[in-house]
Amino acid sequence: MENKIYLHADQSSYKGNLHLHTTWSDGSLSAAETVEVFKEKGYHFVCISDHDVYARTDEFNTDTFITLPGMERGGLNPVADRDPGYHFGVLDDPDAQPAQVRFEHLERFPVPLPWEGDHSPQALIDEMNAHGNLVIFNHPEWHLTRFEDMVRYDGFFAIEIYNHATEWSPVSSYGAAYWHHALQNGKRVFGIAADDSHTHDRNWAMPEYGGGWVCVQADTLTPRAIVASLKAGRFYSSTGPAIHALRVEDGQLIVECSPCKLIMFKAFPLRGPFVGDFQGGSPQTLASIPIEPEMQYIRVECIDFDGNVAWSNPVFVADLLREEE
Ligand SMILES: [Zn+2]
Ligand SMILES: [Zn+2]
Repeated sequence: MENKIYLHADQSSYKGNLHLHTTWSDGSLSAAETVEVFKEKGYHFVCISDHDVYARTDEFNTDTFITLPGMERGGLNPVADRDPGYHFGVLDDPDAQPAQVRFEHLERFPVPLPWEGDHSPQALIDEMNAHGNLVIFNHPEWHLTRFEDMVRYDGFFAIEIYNHATEWSPVSSYGAAYWHHALQNGKRVFGIAADDSHTHDRNWAMPEYGGGWVCVQADTLTPRAIVASLKAGRFYSSTGPAIHALRVEDGQLIVECSPCKLIMFKAFPLRGPFVGDFQGGSPQTLASIPIEPEMQYIRVECIDFDGNVAWSNPVFVADLLREEE
């Protein structure tokens, strides 16, 4: 089995929020104010993903902060019996060679969507891809999306596995079960944690800004470099802990992280050790698991002493075995 590095211990890492709303749809802050909030919090990038209106805001880009063009598409107002509540994150891919023109800044799209049966979400995903966008399957847990939708629909590169705003109301922020369902059925999709920020009020017990994010490894902070790394899975998601390194070495998957209560390997079929000091509770920063050929995928969850989680992307074992040939 080849050695392989998924996350480098010493490569630049950029923190970003791929899901938020501004006054261009139902958010409480303008785009400019939103950018300032995330800059203050130490973020390097955001995607201004308003409902059914595309944002392409180069004017906010500096050497230390960028905005990625995009939106959230799927209809703000569910149509009873016809709209099961599909929302898709839409993210401009600078490396795509789209068949259709790219969307323009503040281009608006019809709401509600005229869904036509169960296959309409696929038509929407295909349309977004055709215009040069990556697609994220947003907050499936909040919408109680059918598990089989993770399999029967194609063309999304990631699932939103943590949506911070729905931690607040209703409590349905964690979507990792949908991720497992997709992975166990052979999908190669990544997991994304995001805020879905709408309402900014510093007095709220649980602010909607800064609760879930991605950390992307890239050489430079440009939309092209960040999106290329997202597409390649060179990132992890988090609500707190940091994953410093993830690599395969001598047949072992090794993870290094910030001090955590527990490091969990989620290998399918189930093999995962749970690494933690269950009696002394001493912090864990390093763990490994032997990789077995019958494993389909392995991903890592690092959980800190406050219950915050960092999720690695999946390591697909078949790729490692192929590289051996
Ligand atoms: Zn949504
Ligand atoms: Zn949203």
